[in-house]
Amino acid sequence: MTRRPWLTRFRRLSCHEVAEVIQAFLDDEADELAARRVARHLKDCRRCGMEAATYVEIKRSLSRRRPVPDPASVQRLRAFGEMLASGQIDVEDPETGERA
Ligand SMILES: [Zn+2]
Repeated sequence: MTRRPWLTRFRRLSCHEVAEVIQAFLDDEADELAARRVARHLKDCRRCGMEAATYVEIKRSLSRRRPVPDPASVQRLRAFGEMLASGQIDVEDPETGERA
């Protein structure tokens, strides 16, 4: 897809773009515009919604079990995030069927 800078603010995020910012979004570290766009994508995209839910669940279980998460769990979480961000998880846009 050709990127048109003047459309970037308003076009929909691809699954890949969501994957890149989803951790920041879920950690409340994404800027407001990004957060709004991610939230809108998650509403429409079941796949990304499930990924978000998985991340939230991992975070929750980490904070529930121990005051300080053990390094192995942190490592798994980090690997999961990197996998999402690098697009190793096979994602495609549900509307266009386009590979992100
Ligand atoms: Zn998606």
